[in-house]
Amino acid sequence: MSIKENLEAIEEKIQSACDRAGRKREEVLLIGVTKTRTADEVNEAVACGITDVGENKVQEIQEKYDKVPGDVKWHMIGHLQTNKVKYIIDKVALIHSVDKIKLAEEIDRRAAEHGIITDVLIEVNAAGEESKFGTDLDGARQLIEEVREKCRNVRIKGLMTIAPATDDPEEVRIYFKELKQLFDEYKAIKDENISFEHLSMGMSGDYEVAIEEGATMVRVGTAIFGPRNYNLH
Ligand SMILES: *Cc1c(COP(=O)(O)O)cnc(C)c1O
Repeated sequence: MSIKENLEAIEEKIQSACDRAGRKREEVLLIGVTKTRTADEVNEAVACGITDVGENKVQEIQEKYDKVPGDVKWHMIGHLQTNKVKYIIDKVALIHSVDKIKLAEEIDRRAAEHGIITDVLIEVNAAGEESKFGTDLDGARQLIEEVREKCRNVRIKGLMTIAPATDDPEEVRIYFKELKQLFDEYKAIKDENISFEHLSMGMSGDYEVAIEEGATMVRVGTAIFGPRNYNLH
C-alpha cells in the first residue's frame, strides 16, 4: 500500500469515528509521525495532504527541517532533554511532551530569548507505566499550576498521552476517558498562558477509540508509512 492509499483508508476511519461520536471531522488533526522516515517520505505525505508532522528526536527534526519546504508544522512528540530545547525552540509548533517543571522552565527561557511564546502540552502517563515518561494525573495538575505561575513564555494548550501497547484498543479506552476528564477540568480556564484546546491521544492501533473519547490530535506513524526499521538509524 502506498502512503496515499494508507492516508485515504485512515481518512475514512477518522471520519467514521467522528460520525460515531457526533463530532466534526475538523475537530481532529491528523499528525503524521515521521520518525525514522526520510525527508522524501515526509514530502510525499505532505503532497498527499499531511499538514503536521510529529518527530520524537531532536536530531531528526534538525536533519529534516530544511529538506521539507512549505509551511509544514513540526510537533515534538518524544521525550525532550532540557539541554536540547535550544535546537528546536524556533522550529516546532507544539511540544507535546512537557512532564517536568525544569523542562518547562528551559522552554520558557529559550522562548524568551527568541521573543516567542511556545505552545506545549503536558504529557500524562495515564496508565502509570514504568517504561513511559509523563506525569500522573495529580502531578499534571501541580505542573500546570507551576507553569502557569512561573513560565510566561510558555502557553499550555492541553494534554498528551501515550496509551499502553495493546492488541485490543478497547482496553485503553479508560485512559482516554480519564485524560478527557482532566482536559475538561482545565478547558474552562482561560488565562494568559493557559488555554486548553488540544487533546493529543491515539496512535496507529488506537486512534479510532481516542477520537471517540475526544482526541483533537491523533499521532499516526505505522498506519501511514508501514513498519519502522530502527536499524537504519
Ligand atoms: C512513534 C510514536 C507515535 C506513532 O506510533 P504508531 O504506532 O507508529 O502510529 C505516536 N506518538 C508518539 C509519542 C510516538 O513516539
